[in-house]
Amino acid sequence: MAKKSQTTRRAAKRKTAKRPTVRFDLTKILVPIDFSEHSKKALEYAVPFARQFGASLELLYVVEPTIYPADFSFGQVGFPNVEEELRTRGHHELGQLIAKTIGGRVNARASVRTGKAFFEIDQFAQEQGIGLIIIATHGHTGIEHVLFGSTAEKVIRHAPCPVLVIPSVGKKFVR
Ligand code: ADP
Repeated sequence: MAKKSQTTRRAAKRKTAKRPTVRFDLTKILVPIDFSEHSKKALEYAVPFARQFGASLELLYVVEPTIYPADFSFGQVGFPNVEEELRTRGHHELGQLIAKTIGGRVNARASVRTGKAFFEIDQFAQEQGIGLIIIATHGHTGIEHVLFGSTAEKVIRHAPCPVLVIPSVGKKFVR
């Protein structure tokens, strides 16, 4: 009986030894930022997380164009000047956030894109070889009885990599 269990243990050991070590490709972590307190809380969590894994952070803000359905005779009208202003402000504010919240603790880069937020976030993750997205459950709308905000939910559904979701309500995870 004792002999049999020793043989089983040896066989299990051989099996384990053959198995290749799984390593997570976590060189870049994406943190989408809409400047809501929830997204800033997710960033506070992402900083020590990135540090622990030796990863860098990619902060992304997406300017969602406002389309005004003017008239059926000449179609929709956009606001290009407003979008440009938001892009410039977005870059500036992300820079401030990097300086204030990250302060050189990990490498971080700011990017601004224009389009539908969830689509741009997932597209960015795909293009930039992102290993993990860290996102808050809610943003500016912040309806707490809804499990996820509309962007967070779609990001999770279409993401090309794992997504770590930070609950917006309740305790702080980083002290
Ligand atoms: P809500 O419906 O409560 O506003 P969202 O799903 O829009 O919630 O937001 C959840 C998270 O998605 C935000 O905390 C932020 O990280 C990300 N997000 C939402 N909109 C944008 C955006 N325009 N640019 C970058 N990230 C965004």
